[in-house]
Parts: sequence; structure tokens; C-alpha cells
Amino acid sequence: MTAQECLQILRNVKDVAFATTDEDGFPQVRMIDVMLVEEGKLYFCTARGKDFYRQLISSGRAAVTGLNREYQMVRVSGKVRKLSDQKAWIDRIFEENPSMKGVYPGESRYILEPFCIEEGEAEFFDLGKNPIYRESFCLGRGRIRRKGFEITDACIGCGECMRNCPQQCIEEGAPYVIRQENCLHCGLCQENCPVQAIERRGEA
Ligand code: SF4
Ligand code: SF4
Repeated sequence: MTAQECLQILRNVKDVAFATTDEDGFPQVRMIDVMLVEEGKLYFCTARGKDFYRQLISSGRAAVTGLNREYQMVRVSGKVRKLSDQKAWIDRIFEENPSMKGVYPGESRYILEPFCIEEGEAEFFDLGKNPIYRESFCLGRGRIRRKGFEITDACIGCGECMRNCPQQCIEEGAPYVIRQENCLHCGLCQENCPVQAIERRGEA
């Protein structure tokens, strides 16, 4: 899978959840259409009067998530950029999404402003598989944050983590190893390790 294919899942779902934070730092979420996905960039729009618009402008960031019928989830977190050439982009978005003409007929469409997410991180998470499967992607110059858990050299090979793992994604070794692509990030292995050999990734 590529970053573009990952974003394409959100485009196919189309109505996805966009999260921002408001002026008091509280989380806010709403359903927004993914209007276009091209060259690893996700495009959407919103009206200048909306709180969503103000929050995008003020924080410059958004998180997005959607789930398809196959229980494949995609999450994106990244920087949001308001696009110049507003009318051309809105016209393009309306061409690609003709139902928008019913919502914003005629010239009213130009109350909308186009945005894109082109830098950040995307994650594909397939809950329809056993074991589950996950994969992360960089968008543009974004970076992938290390998440989940890893087993350190303090491991004594007791096998307690392997016996408790709900996805059976820990393999024997010295030390034992977590197959990161199949891990739920549930933390059960860490709670059960008798010698605290399992660390949260990204905290070292
Ligand atoms: S529970 Fe801890 S010590 Fe035992 S195998 Fe797993 S990581 Fe190693
Ligand atoms: S975090 Fe959960 S799913 Fe991942 S290896 Fe540990 S027990 Fe298994």
C-alpha cells in the first residue's frame, strides 16, 4: 500500500470525521466530505462562516478518520493549508463532486474555501483481518511517530507476554519480538511482563 492508496480509502468513504480544537482547547469533531485525493494530498472545503473554518485557520491542523465496510480504518493527522486561487479550486471540487451544486447553488459556492492536508502522518488499520494489520505513512515532509510497545534486552524469555497477547503477535527470541504490523497497542504484554522489559515506543 502507498500513502495515496491509504488516502483513497478516505475518498471512497467520502463522509469522514474531521477533528480540530476550539479556542478553549476543547476537541470538536464533525463529518466533512473528502473532495479530492491527488499525489498524496487530501482536499476538502468549508464555508468561511463556520467554526470549523475558524479553528482550521487558527490551529493550522486537523485530524481525520474514516472506516469502510471492510472494517479498514484510515487516520490522518497533519498540517492544513488554505489554498490560494480559491475560485478555481472550488470549481474543480464542484466538478469532481456534482452533488455540491445542490447544497451551494450558483455563486453561493464561493463562500467555501479550499484546504489541503499535504504534510503529516497517515495510518491504515485493518480490523477485518486476523491478526489485525496496521501500517503508517508519511505525507509530504511529515514524520511517523513511533507508537505501541517494544521488548528490550531486559527480557528473560519467560513467555508471559506471548501467552497474554490477544493477537498472538509476539515471537520467541532473545529478546522476544513484537510484530508491529499486527499489534493492537493494547498494552497487555507490558502489564504482564514480570521484569518490566517492555517499553512504550517513542519514549526512550
Ligand atoms: S513477559 Fe517480559 S520477560 Fe517474559 S518473554 Fe515477554 S518480554 Fe520477555
Ligand atoms: S500491545 Fe497488545 S497486541 Fe500488541 S503485542 Fe502487546 S499484548 Fe499483543
